[in-house]
Amino acid sequence: MAPPPTFSHKSHPVGEAIVTASTFRFGSKAKAISPALETHSSPASGAVRRIARMAVTGLVGAALTLTSVLPAAAQRNIMPIRDAEIEALIRDYARPVFKAAGLGTSDIGVVLVDDKSFNAFVADSHRIFINVGAISQTDTPNQLIGVIAHEAAHMAGGHLLRLREAVSRAQTMSVIAMLLGAGAMAAGAAAGGSAGNQIIQGGNAIMLGGQSVAERSVLAYARGEETAADRAALTYLGATGQSAVGMIEVFRKFADQNMFASRYIDPYAQTHPMPTERIAQIENVARQSKFFDRKDPADLQLRHDMAKAKLSGFTEHPGTVARRYPKSDTGLPARYARAIAAYRSGDTKTALKGVDELIKAQPANPWLYELKGQVLFEKGRPKEAIEPYRKAVSLAPDAGIVRVYLGIALTETNDDRYLDEAIRELSAGLRADEDVPIGYRYLAQGYARKGDTAMAELAAAQQYFAEGDFKGAKDLARRARAKLKKGSPGWLRADDIVSYNPPKL
Ligand SMILES: [Zn+2]
Repeated sequence: MAPPPTFSHKSHPVGEAIVTASTFRFGSKAKAISPALETHSSPASGAVRRIARMAVTGLVGAALTLTSVLPAAAQRNIMPIRDAEIEALIRDYARPVFKAAGLGTSDIGVVLVDDKSFNAFVADSHRIFINVGAISQTDTPNQLIGVIAHEAAHMAGGHLLRLREAVSRAQTMSVIAMLLGAGAMAAGAAAGGSAGNQIIQGGNAIMLGGQSVAERSVLAYARGEETAADRAALTYLGATGQSAVGMIEVFRKFADQNMFASRYIDPYAQTHPMPTERIAQIENVARQSKFFDRKDPADLQLRHDMAKAKLSGFTEHPGTVARRYPKSDTGLPARYARAIAAYRSGDTKTALKGVDELIKAQPANPWLYELKGQVLFEKGRPKEAIEPYRKAVSLAPDAGIVRVYLGIALTETNDDRYLDEAIRELSAGLRADEDVPIGYRYLAQGYARKGDTAMAELAAAQQYFAEGDFKGAKDLARRARAKLKKGSPGWLRADDIVSYNPPKL
C-alpha cells in the first residue's frame, strides 16, 4: 500500500469525512442556520484560492499544487504539516539561539514543510520554516541547532533583506512555494539542458519579486554573507554553551554533495555555497570553544529521536518503518515508530497496545496521550479519545492544537453534556493557535447546536479567514456583526474580519 502523506491529524479517512460539506452537520437543537454556512463549507481539497493565507492546516490537509508553473516532473503538492510535538522541539532548539542573535524569543512560529529534502529558513524575526527532511536527516539536536544558528545569523545580519521584507508580509503558503521553488531550481540545475532550464524558469516563476533567472535562486547567499553567518553562528553557539560540531557535520555533508555534483542536491546545499576551505575555517574557530566536545543532553537527544521516529511512522511505508526500526530494537523511538505504523496499517489493537506501553515508560509525555487520542478518535471512538486528549492538554497546556483536538472529540460524541466543554476547549485552543481552520468549523457546529446563530456565523467566518477565503469570511462576519452586541468581543472580532485587507506581495 502506498502510504498517503498522512501525518498527525492531517488527511486521514475520518478527518476527510469530517471536513466534507455533507458531514458538516448541526444538532437537532440547532436553529436553521443561514444557507451561507453550507454553501461555503466545501471539501478541504482543491480550492487553491482558499489557501492564500493558510495555513498550516491541522485536520484539513489542504494541498497547493504548483501545476500551472512547474513542468510535469516538478509538479508537487505543498503540504505544511502540523505536529505539536515536533513544533515544540524546534521551538526549544531555536529559542536560545534566537535570543543570542537578538531575534524574538516568544511566540516563535515553526512551519513544518512536508518535504524530504533538507532545507531550513528563518523567514523573519519570529518565523522559521523547516523541511521535515532536515529533521529526518540529522542525527543529533546539535546538528539541527547548528543549522538554525547559521540561519538565524543570516536573518540577524540582514542578508537577503529585500526578500525577507517581502516574506514578512507573505502568506505562509507563498513562502513554502518559494522554498520548494528553490528546490525545483536545484533539481533543474542538476538535470541541466533544456529540461533543466524549463524547471529553472518554472521555479523562478513562483519566486517572490522579479529575480532574473541568471541569479539561479533568490535564496542564494553570497560568499561574504556565508562567512559572516558562520562567524555569528559560532558566537551564538558559544553564548548558549553549545558545540559547533553539529553544524560542521551537516556542512561537510553538503560540501560533498556539491563536490560530487550528485544527481540530487538538497535545496539547502544549493543556496549555501560550501567550499571545503570554508568548513576548515569554521572548524579552526570552533575548536577553540570550551564547548567543542559538549554533547546534547540525553533528554533532548531522545526527543530528537522520537521526532524522527514519528516522522518515519507517519510518512514512510510500513515496510520501510519495519526495516528502520526492527522488532529487535526495543528503544522508545523504535516502539513509537512501530506503534504509529501499526495504526496507519489499520492494526488498532497493536497500535493501542504499543502506545499504552510507551505511556507506562513515559507517563509525563503529552504527545503519547495525544497519539492515543488520535488513534481512538480516528477509529470512530471519540468518547474514548476524550480522556487521553484531556491528559495531553493537562501536560502541554500551551499546545493550542491539542486543545482543539480535544474540543473536536467532545463535539463528535454528539452528546450535549459535553457541548459546553467542547466550546470552551475549542475557543481556548484557537486563541492559542489560530491556524487550525477545522477547529472553527467545530466551534461553529457547537454554537449552532446551542442555537447561537451569531457566534456560529462568526466561527464560520473565522474558519474561512484562516483558510484564506477572505470573501467568504467577510460575508459571514457581516451577518454575525449585525446580530452581535456592538462593542462585544465577538462583534469586535467580526468587525476586524469585515475590515481586513490582505497584504499585497
Ligand atoms: Zn548560509
